[in-house]
Amino acid sequence: MVLTDIEIAQQATLTPIKEIAETIGLVEDDLELFGKYKAKLSMEKINALKSNENGQLILVTAINPTPAGEGKSTVTIGLGDALNRLGKKTVIALREPSLGPVMGIKGGATGGGAAQVLPMEDINLHFTGDMHAITTANNALSALLDNHVQQGNELNIDLRRTIWKRVVDLNDRALRKVVVGLGGAIQGVPREDGFDITVASEIMAILCLARDITDLKQRLGNIVIGYTYTRQPVFVRDLKVEGALALLLKDAIKPNLVQTIEKTPAFVHGGPFANIAHGCNSVLATTTALKLGDYVVTEAGFGADLGAEKFLDIKVPNLPKAPDAVVIVATIRALKMHGGVLKSNLQEENVEALKVGFANLEKHIENIQSFNVPVVVAINEFLTDTEEEILTLQQLCEEKGVKIARCSVWANGGAGGVELAKAVLSEMEGTSKEFSPVYDVNDSIEEKITAIVQKIYGGRQVHFEKKAKMQMKNFAQYGWDKLPICMAKTQYSLSDDPTLLARPKDFDITVRELVPKLGAGFIVALTGDVMTMPGLPKTPAALNMDVDSVGNAIGLF
Ligand code: ADP
Repeated sequence: MVLTDIEIAQQATLTPIKEIAETIGLVEDDLELFGKYKAKLSMEKINALKSNENGQLILVTAINPTPAGEGKSTVTIGLGDALNRLGKKTVIALREPSLGPVMGIKGGATGGGAAQVLPMEDINLHFTGDMHAITTANNALSALLDNHVQQGNELNIDLRRTIWKRVVDLNDRALRKVVVGLGGAIQGVPREDGFDITVASEIMAILCLARDITDLKQRLGNIVIGYTYTRQPVFVRDLKVEGALALLLKDAIKPNLVQTIEKTPAFVHGGPFANIAHGCNSVLATTTALKLGDYVVTEAGFGADLGAEKFLDIKVPNLPKAPDAVVIVATIRALKMHGGVLKSNLQEENVEALKVGFANLEKHIENIQSFNVPVVVAINEFLTDTEEEILTLQQLCEEKGVKIARCSVWANGGAGGVELAKAVLSEMEGTSKEFSPVYDVNDSIEEKITAIVQKIYGGRQVHFEKKAKMQMKNFAQYGWDKLPICMAKTQYSLSDDPTLLARPKDFDITVRELVPKLGAGFIVALTGDVMTMPGLPKTPAALNMDVDSVGNAIGLF
């Protein structure tokens, strides 16, 4: 019988986090403990570490996801465990899960099988309260904005042009569009508002990109909340509340330390959505990990066209270094889906479909190579994969001149990741080329988006709808055009049409609208219908969840 993720996690014996911390040179005074097995790192220690040398950085990304699942977090954790087995001092840096997907359909974000971070129940639920702090800071800003208008609207804010929304860390479709301030003069000024999920909040993106508290405060001050009646942007600093918001985040900004089943130290911190935001864990966690470990394994959300591109073009400029290697996770099942096989038929061997679906992996390999970073493909093995299929994928990668390694960390933990770890170590030893981003940040918005569409997605050209064209002109006038671009696009396809699998050709991309996220420091380009508040499915994961009489979680995956 195959055990569930939670059953495997609950069978593991946890080591006190103080002892895990010691393995990377941290003492008890450096930690702020949340019980026995979770801790935040003190800001004093984070600052003191800044002068340390950086370790080697390994980024884990994947092909375009399918409902078959790719297993990026699982491979990230297993690769970290494998490197430690090989005697390499390794620290993992992952995103923290959002309760929306946990209660909904996608599940948690703590890995799976024998490659998990612990305590998985806590990490998937309220953890150390970061999500609540971010939710509170976001909604404090909404309350302060409404109060400013109620008290006379000195800033002349046009309530029909506010762009700041409230958030909650749940999938709650009923809150997507709301009207607030109903009930008469003392209940506020009525206006249309809406809720996003917390991980889509700009404050989450800011927390994840801030280098320290001073930077955090400055970024919070730069948030655009809307426009005046004369169409001038209104910033948080105009409301003079960036100090209060930063205060609400003073602990949430500190990285959380936990452990894997095999006792590898792991920072789990920050989790912006990879569609509307940049989809990586915090800069502070990754930077701190680089100062503590000789090797750091980290992950970027969704496929490499979204997560890795944003990691490399948005996060890297805020990190002490670019990745030394990138691992692209592929599964035989997902490649067969890209080759046209239905989900219900994935158990059957289908080498021909695998060959067709390989086109998706091939494009992601070429993309990462274009950044001048070494690439290794990891086959995240499922029990249904056949030897013939694995051999075919190995051959296809070898013909392409790219290293490929089998990876069975889900079934075997770190032992199943040793082949991958060795492949990554040997690729990193090669001659180092200069890191090359997709675009020059000083190019125009149009040029930057076109570069992403043509070079990364393999598209023909970009159509800008009327609103987006107008915004490009306005943003240039405001001086907002020299920022990186955060593409909001479906994760299922290299194009903006989720049904176009594998490697679509001759397609154009339509940009509907731009959203200024000046606090985060990027401009979001909206394509297609991108969801900022997901809904729950017909059978939400919540239906399987329970708790026993002493507080043990049941049915959390
Ligand atoms: P991602 O990070 O790409 O979203 P995860 O690592 O979170 O994916 O894995 C998603 C789910 O798939 C988890 O429940 C995990 O247990 C399962 N999974 C991952 N790899 C395997 C595998 N090789 N075999 C079976 N299940 C797997």
